[in-house]
Amino acid sequence: MKVLVPVKRVVDYNVKVRVKSDGTGVDIANVKMSMNPFDEIAVEEAVRLKEGGKVTEIVAVSAGVTQCQETLRTAMAIGADRGILVDTAEELQPLAVAKLLKALADKEQPQLIILGKQAIDDDSNQTGQMLAALLGWGQATFASKVVIEDGKATVTREVDGGLETVALPLPAIVTTDLRLNEPRYVTLPNIMKAKKKPLETVKPADLGVDVTPRLKTLKVSEPPKRSAGIMVKDVAELVSKLKNEAKVI
Ligand code: AMP
Repeated sequence: MKVLVPVKRVVDYNVKVRVKSDGTGVDIANVKMSMNPFDEIAVEEAVRLKEGGKVTEIVAVSAGVTQCQETLRTAMAIGADRGILVDTAEELQPLAVAKLLKALADKEQPQLIILGKQAIDDDSNQTGQMLAALLGWGQATFASKVVIEDGKATVTREVDGGLETVALPLPAIVTTDLRLNEPRYVTLPNIMKAKKKPLETVKPADLGVDVTPRLKTLKVSEPPKRSAGIMVKDVAELVSKLKNEAKVI
């Protein structure tokens, strides 16, 4: 069984993002970029399924600028067998990514596609759902446990206030939540091995997909600055301030 794992190159989660002075977006010049953390969990899950004998091939896919090759190499260092870069400098919105992935799924015929539940840069949480709709496949989002058996996936989902377990026939879409697994550290030998794994490059036009943005970002702004805190002498003063100044109790 083949698994497709889409991996997005995003601003590293440790970086404090800065909004551009003209409010048109986030400044990514000279900023550390990494694989979207939920996608690392997706690759790890695919690798565990392969180690468990359920999966024979893992194909990582990244859409974006040429540097996404690094993200694909990381996926291959975790254990993906090969990578596909959809090379474009266009801004890619979730619908465009879903269409690209649909075209690749038609070509590659995977039985399972594991995506992150959301990309930490745009926080859209849309691509997996749109892809499931375009393919006409079942989807299990926010997965915290995935079991593949007898041609079906049994997925435990993190829902408000608890867990829900669903079964869906393959092929299917799964999106990962934080608690699904803890991705392994990539080791130097595996980074070296990843350099030799096959990496194919295609353009959106090769897949017959028009990636023109459908949404226009009007403005991006930073959250309001927090005002400085103050020290209080004792609990009595704290209670008095909370009551009379902050008026929260
Ligand atoms: P989003 O809908 O943007 O929050 O992204 C959800 C998931 O879709 C991500 O965790 C990735 O698995 C996948 N994805 C989104 N954009 C890309 C991209 N440009 N290349 C590869 N995968 C992507």
